Amino acid sequence: MKGKNAIAEIYRVTIWGTAGNLLLSICKTAAGLIGGSAAVLTDGLHSLSDLATDGAVFTGTKLSEKAPDKMHPYGHRWWETLSTLAISLVLFAAGAGAVVKSFSSGKVSSFESPALVYSVTLFSIAVKEFLFRITESAGRKTSSSALHANAWHHRSDALSSIAVLAGLIMTNMGIAYADSIAAGLVGLMIIIASMKLIGGVFREFSNTAAGRRTLETVRQISREDPDVGQIHKLRSRNIGREIFLDFHMLVDPQMSVQKAHEITDRIENKIAESLTVPVNITIHIEPDLEDKRKDE
Ligand SMILES: [Zn+2]
Ligand SMILES: [Zn+2]
Repeated sequence: MKGKNAIAEIYRVTIWGTAGNLLLSICKTAAGLIGGSAAVLTDGLHSLSDLATDGAVFTGTKLSEKAPDKMHPYGHRWWETLSTLAISLVLFAAGAGAVVKSFSSGKVSSFESPALVYSVTLFSIAVKEFLFRITESAGRKTSSSALHANAWHHRSDALSSIAVLAGLIMTNMGIAYADSIAAGLVGLMIIIASMKLIGGVFREFSNTAAGRRTLETVRQISREDPDVGQIHKLRSRNIGREIFLDFHMLVDPQMSVQKAHEITDRIENKIAESLTVPVNITIHIEPDLEDKRKDE
């Protein structure tokens, strides 16, 4: 999915997420206060901070779609990566906060209104898992790393609500500190999820090549074209969802410049059509002579 469709999909699913987080932060904060559960209240405040990460997806996507200009000839897609980094750092902080808090939380033996805290926590798990699924599927369709990050944020929120639920049940069974231990474990899971996302951001910042399947697609399209002798020096890197590619292409030494240009256009279009993300290609033409051929 590319262009306007992808952006519409990213916005659509993020609006769902924002609505869900708004609803959950109100329900959980109220239930935590009325029901007398500190864990549910904290979960509610966490959902409030999630609204900020939804905002990061909106701004990141909006800014990254700005057309390239004189000052930014490679476009503005870096903003999407930056918003992914921001979401990941919030996620990391949330995980670290949960771990730290689990060490200092006191013993809770009963709740003011168990039915309320239970039902709101179950509702939260269902909503968050639903948001994870639609966001992850949209993230895959649009190859948006910010959506992928936000999807895993939803999943980690579902898990933390599950830990809250486990804590509620065990507290009712009279097990001391069970809720604190569960909360600490969930905090660790959130930290691991955020580290994975941060790793992806650093792969992009260090100009790591595009995936093997993408590069193989490029090679195969060139190999299958009868007018292309060879390609080499294939370089690639990602900026947000966009892949930047450049390579050398060998053609018949007697070929006219006009014909050679037609071939590069043809190859560029074929590559753009077979990849699911926006792509920016520069091809360097060389005469197909023995000394120009290279292995890579
Ligand atoms: Zn969250
Ligand atoms: Zn060359």
